[in-house]
This record gives sequence, C-alpha cells and structure tokens, in this order.
Amino acid sequence: MNRSESAAGPVGRRLETALETLQQRRDAYLGYPVAKDFRFSALAEFLDVPLNNLGDPFSDSTWQMATREFEREVLADAARWLRAPEDNWWGYVGNGGSEGNLYGLYLARELLPGATVYFSQATHYSVSKNLHLLNMRHIMIRADERGEMDYDDLRESIRINRDRPVIIFANIGTTMTEARDDLGRIRDILDDLAISQRYIHSDAAFIGLAAPFMQPRPAFDFVDGADSISISGHKFIGCAIPCGIVLARKSNVDRIARSIAYIGSLDTTISGSRNGLTPLMLWQRFRELGESGMAERVKSAQAMAAWTEDAFRQAGIQAWRNPGAFTVVFPRPSDAIIRRFQLATEGKWSHVICVPGVEQSHIQALLDALREEDFPE
Ligand SMILES: *Cc1c(COP(=O)(O)O)cnc(C)c1O
Repeated sequence: MNRSESAAGPVGRRLETALETLQQRRDAYLGYPVAKDFRFSALAEFLDVPLNNLGDPFSDSTWQMATREFEREVLADAARWLRAPEDNWWGYVGNGGSEGNLYGLYLARELLPGATVYFSQATHYSVSKNLHLLNMRHIMIRADERGEMDYDDLRESIRINRDRPVIIFANIGTTMTEARDDLGRIRDILDDLAISQRYIHSDAAFIGLAAPFMQPRPAFDFVDGADSISISGHKFIGCAIPCGIVLARKSNVDRIARSIAYIGSLDTTISGSRNGLTPLMLWQRFRELGESGMAERVKSAQAMAAWTEDAFRQAGIQAWRNPGAFTVVFPRPSDAIIRRFQLATEGKWSHVICVPGVEQSHIQALLDALREEDFPE
C-alpha cells in the first residue's frame, strides 16, 4: 500500500503538506540535541500490528504482541557500553530521558528513604517536577559558568546535612552547555565525608550513547560509580519517536519489584503499556552502526563542533564549548534567527548542537544570517 492509497483526498493532501513542512524544518534546526540522520521506512509494516511491550522486558507475559527480545538486545548493548556489572543490571526502554530520570530517583527513594537529593542548577527542567512528584527533599547546588557542578558547594551542603542519606543527581551533558559533572570527584567528596548511605544517578540523556566512545572517556558510568543511568534514545542516536533507556543495578531493582497476576509479569516499569516500536528502531540503529560506527559518529560530530566553534570565532562571534562537546554556545541572536534555526536559548546564551546530520552548509547558513543582521545591505 503506498501513501496515496492509504490516505487519499483531503486527508492525504493535508498529511503530504505537513510532511513537506516537517522535512524542511528538520533540515533547518540547529539548536536541539536530536540527530537527523536516520531512515526507518524499512519498519513501516510494523505500524500495522498492535505492538505493546507491556510489563517487564525480562519476564514473559500472556500478551505476546511485543518486541521484548529486541528490547533486551538493545539493553544488553547499552549495558556493555555503560559498563554495567555483569549479571547484575536491569533496565527498560521507556518514553525518554525524563522517564529514566524519574525511574532512577524513584528507585533511589525506595532504597534510601529520607535521603536528600543534590543536583546542580544546570539540571534539566523536568527534574524539579520529578522531585515534586516523588516528594523528595532536595538541595540545589551551584554550577560554574560553564555548567559544571560546583564541588565545593556540594561538599559544604552535604557536610551540614551529614545525618541524611545522599542521592546525587549528576548531569552528564547539561541541556544548555553540555557540561559534565565528574563522578570521580563526587565520590571523593562522599568518601571524605564518610557518607555510606549513598546513591548516584547519571542523567546522560543526550550523550549517554556517545560518551562510551569518547576519548578521554567521561567519568559517568557504572564502573565510575553510577547506580542508575538515563539516556534519551532519540537524541544522539536518532529515532522517529521519543524514547529512552534506563539501566540500574539489578540487586537494587529486585528489592522493590512487585509481581502482578493480571498480566503475568512484573510491574517494574513506570509506564504499564510501553512502546514496542522504539526498541525496534533503536535495535536497527545499533545494528546498522555497530561499535565502530558509533565511535566514528562521535568523532565526526566532535570534529563538526570544533569546526563550528572555529567558524563562529572567525566571524567575530564569541563562541565556546566544553571540552569534547557537540554543543557550541554563543551570545543570543535576534528572535527571528532563533525561530528560523530553532535555537534553544536561555538568558544571554544560545547554542548550536552538532548532532549527526548537521553539515557545514547548515552552519554556514546560520553564520550568513547572523552576518546579514549585523551588516544589512
Ligand atoms: C533531553 C534531556 C532530558 C529529558 O529527556 P527527554 O528524552 O526529553 O525526556 C533530561 N536531561 C537532559 C540533560 C536532557 O538533555
């Protein structure tokens, strides 16, 4: 069945126009951490079956219209890249980085009742809502001007609250500047203060599937001390539907799992019904790219970011980026340019994110527009 058969007449025309607009907007956007270099048309026929990965990906269910075996392979790949403890990890493909962060905080709260959550002021906006939902005590820590946690402020804040267990919500690639908190330094502080009741969650929404292939490798994964990690599937890898991967230590998860008779599965996930398409999409991307493709992808996106930073500076714009980052930060331009290139903007800063699919010509178009504004003809 082709598109004109499936939707003819006014319905078909409306959809076709929408598609064209979206394709143009896709080619234009530069400010969001969302890769554009994917093709999922090969999966089109999966849209004609009612997929639902209901329940726990590792337990069978009476409902079998699912892609759980693909989901498990995706999770196993992620577990290897994130150096999860062998035979002691668990996870699922959820709706995005926010859900993974909610899951990590929920797990931490169940394990350490009464704990205080520490997170920096550069943390994603969804986290305060999550903390509110979970009714968790929390303290916001200062971030430096580049977006990394102020470790002195962290130490001091924990020191004066030493009677409570500690939950660290670490940023591995902040939304605005792609700054990374260093788990090594955070652990040193917890050790120094003799905090034994502790839990560390890594919010690696954007770069969680890139960082394992970076040189030097950021300190963010299970070997570095994370107890759970959340990653968005639609960001660095690219996906047609928002999704995410969350991984946690299995021994922790087992302590809070509940068995549900009705579906013959475990109610371990935040959502009950779960997307069955997104695990297929991630699986396809992982298989297409392979580890060498992933490493290559990281290197070329970093090279594009370096080129972009340089091109901005040569154009006389004070651009900068954190070491190894795909994100190039520069002074906020006009609202017209912000809209045209879909630039995420906060206060006096905007950014360009060199995700896979962004090319020199796209950056050049932005630079031309910026120059045109400064020197109109
Ligand atoms: C995008 C992002 C999130 C939220 O992830 P979603 O997939 O949009 O739910 C959380 N934290 C950071 C650092 C992000 O970049």
